[in-house]
Amino acid sequence: MEAAVRDFTTDQSCMALNTVTVRKQGDLQAIIDACLRHKIPAIVPWREQVAELGLRTASRAIERAGLVVPGYCRGGMMVADESRLGEARDDNRRAVDEAAELGAKCLVLVVGGLPQFSRPGSAPSKDIGAARALVADEIARLLPYAVKCGVRLALEPLHPVHAANRACVNTLGQALDLCDAIDQTGQGGLGVAVDVYHTWWDPDLANQIARAGAARLHAFHVCDWLVPTRHPLTDRGMMGDGVIDIPRIRGWVESAGYQGFCEVEILSDVWWARSMDDTLHACVRAMREAV
Ligand code: ZN
Repeated sequence: MEAAVRDFTTDQSCMALNTVTVRKQGDLQAIIDACLRHKIPAIVPWREQVAELGLRTASRAIERAGLVVPGYCRGGMMVADESRLGEARDDNRRAVDEAAELGAKCLVLVVGGLPQFSRPGSAPSKDIGAARALVADEIARLLPYAVKCGVRLALEPLHPVHAANRACVNTLGQALDLCDAIDQTGQGGLGVAVDVYHTWWDPDLANQIARAGAARLHAFHVCDWLVPTRHPLTDRGMMGDGVIDIPRIRGWVESAGYQGFCEVEILSDVWWARSMDDTLHACVRAMREAV
């Protein structure tokens, strides 16, 4: 199994940069330019950065730079009360349209937690079961549109610390149950994004990655879990600086047949405070040494 794992020590052709990693250091155009300087071949942009530059301009800039777009961040926040549900659906269809325009291979879905946090203005609820049922319905509604547009959906389970406000899908097993219930084609229109930060603690992770297989594994995100973690959202570590056995998880993912990009996604006040080039240099080095 270990022999199947790709060698990243001298080859960064499988590296992707999630633009959130350097979002405070510059706009999307500056990040595209920096990817070229650091020989990072793929980029996963966020909607607000694309909107800031303008969709067509962003799309052309990425294409001109020759960057691959393995994913687009993000759709989701699907949990809403009746008054906000239409807005959530429109927003998700727009996210699919944008992903298609950018040539993104998938749209990452962070599905939302309780309605009052997922879509502010919704009536407060404590019913996480209802939130989960709604997520299933809404993904089932969005999927045919995404398939028609040629965009795969990548459901990203988040660490349970985010269950209330960001995502009530919290384990890879739960995400795959949704995939199996909603998308029985086996064509991979609906799959998952495995982020080591959100999943490393799960005792069933190896089994669930094997269960997912190549058809459902749409994305693989890396960073590290720091101890202590000072903030659940903005204190992620550089790969190698924390406690996640990233090479082991990458081994599971690649043994399951995943041959896609390895996406660096670090939300960190520490790394946002460094220069763009410092942070990207550290990312490239950590990809070689710790992933
Ligand atoms: Zn992620």
